[in-house]
Amino acid sequence: MAKSNRRNGARSDGAARTAVKRGRVASPSPDAIKHPIAPNAPVDLSSRQPLRTGTVQLLSDVEEAEFEETVRKQLQLMGEDPDREGLIRTPTRVARSLAWLTRGYRENAWTAVGEGVFTEKHDHMVMVRDIELYSLCEHHLLPFFGKAHIAYIPSGRIVGLSKLPRLVEVFARRLQVQERLTGQIAQAICEVLQPRGVGVVIEAVHLCMMMRGVEKQNSKTITSALLGSFRDDAKTRDEFLRLAHGRE
Ligand SMILES: [Zn+2]
Repeated sequence: MAKSNRRNGARSDGAARTAVKRGRVASPSPDAIKHPIAPNAPVDLSSRQPLRTGTVQLLSDVEEAEFEETVRKQLQLMGEDPDREGLIRTPTRVARSLAWLTRGYRENAWTAVGEGVFTEKHDHMVMVRDIELYSLCEHHLLPFFGKAHIAYIPSGRIVGLSKLPRLVEVFARRLQVQERLTGQIAQAICEVLQPRGVGVVIEAVHLCMMMRGVEKQNSKTITSALLGSFRDDAKTRDEFLRLAHGRE
């Protein structure tokens, strides 16, 4: 509240708020597997003020002030003094950090691949393994992280290989459960490439399991989504799973 004076600059905060909401994608229904997720309209971030770091400001001033107040309140509820020296800038940092960690709401499959889709006759499996992945579990807002392995068999279109990690980011940088994240990545690839088949495997560890509750330090969660020929053709499926889990 003490900071409200510097936040009275005229900004189009309504637009920013709508932009955040528009990006939200509900859990996929079984139907969504057959009919990949509808493309979300790309969000225009060009009008947002750049931060000093050169990155894009994700929250409007009003949103950031509200966020800071909430974090201050959380600190108080934890028994902390939000005005002590070490915590004075924490609400701002947390607000910006969480906005960044959930920036995937402002993107979709199409903004991720950009111009990176090409016509190509190649019809064998394309695979990118060990894509680093960081996300936040929606039940505890704690990180889960690990690796994604993605493969597809093209049907006339391929995507620049660096775009697959970007696609992972779009969905990982939201509040997630690992199962839905895996399915959304597979569906997004279907949407932009319409390939013969897609396979996605994610292996991740969840801090909510490691730090609290059951405290299972070494358990890894593995999820997979197989669409098209990866689901229907045993040979393709086996080849993919062998490559995904294989360690040379
Ligand atoms: Zn959790």
